Amino acid sequence: MNTPFRRRTFLHSLLAGPLLLGGAAARTASTPGPGKILDLHTHLFGTGDNDSGCRLSKEIRDGLLFKGLVGSLDLRRRAHTIDEAYVLALAENIETSGFDRVVVLSQDAVYDANGKPDWDRTPVYVPNDYLFKTVAKYSKKMIPCVSINPQRIDAIDELEKCVAHGARVLKIHAPIQGVDVSDMRYLPFFRRCADLNVIVMVHTGHENSAPIFRIQLADPYKLKNALNEGCTVVACHCGTGRASNMPDMLPHFLEMIRKHDNLWGDTAVLGSIGRSRDLMRLIDDELAVKRILHGSDFPFPSVPLEFSQQLGDVPAARLQFINNPIKRDFELKVALKIGRESAARAYRLVCGAGE
Ligand SMILES: [Zn+2]
Repeated sequence: MNTPFRRRTFLHSLLAGPLLLGGAAARTASTPGPGKILDLHTHLFGTGDNDSGCRLSKEIRDGLLFKGLVGSLDLRRRAHTIDEAYVLALAENIETSGFDRVVVLSQDAVYDANGKPDWDRTPVYVPNDYLFKTVAKYSKKMIPCVSINPQRIDAIDELEKCVAHGARVLKIHAPIQGVDVSDMRYLPFFRRCADLNVIVMVHTGHENSAPIFRIQLADPYKLKNALNEGCTVVACHCGTGRASNMPDMLPHFLEMIRKHDNLWGDTAVLGSIGRSRDLMRLIDDELAVKRILHGSDFPFPSVPLEFSQQLGDVPAARLQFINNPIKRDFELKVALKIGRESAARAYRLVCGAGE
């Protein structure tokens, strides 16, 4: 319990937050670290209100999360269309984040049994072409991560086309896209990813921002085939969830990194509401700390106040004042002592040591 004195000190510090930011937060950002840094996990999104080709279901557009993001990213003021405004917000936040490079993700559709898009069951869609077009405008900072559902009939053709365009990272969102990545039918797809040196990112753990088919599709055990085919695999979110989410799949991730040297995990969304328990469990695992790669999951915001117990009320509140969500998330993870090393590791994995 806070004493009245402590509460007053806390409130005083909160009000002084923006000034104090010149202290703790700015210092951590400018402290020389172990090389260049990369954020592995930010999203390109769109509603399709210009010629982007993006789709976002009415259910998501009517939801509180979407409305909150439109407000917090100031999307109505930035441009005439939401899609154009979102790109401007993404680019501005990347530019002022302090990161050397940032990986930006597209999102493939749900496919039917014949390998054709099933638009009625696709809640989120961001075409690879639109991703390439967007990233080309900001090529100094942005790196494209294409999305290919291996269930699509032209999956390998699309993979080769994307690699010819310069893609070196691929994302599959198994529970939203309704695909079982452990299905033996996808072995040739993963073999081709390994041949082409494409890093394969797969969503693992619980999903709280879009409807899913089955949570079992998000189990880190499902990554076995891609790993055995020799792919470098990133388990996005490391199989984590909120404390109330069942089943608990983080132990499966911890087991899998002990069996597979080519498995990594990203820290995307782990600074957000409800994820502190699992982020701290991850940090407590010595091997996991060496295998994590920094990811913010922009635009989904981190909430440093969630980590008051670990950081103290005032330091957590200072971090909460950082406006840029990419920077806020990074500074939170720096304060938790995993940020800079995991961001430098992500840079080395995606860009190599020399770039
Ligand atoms: Zn994400």
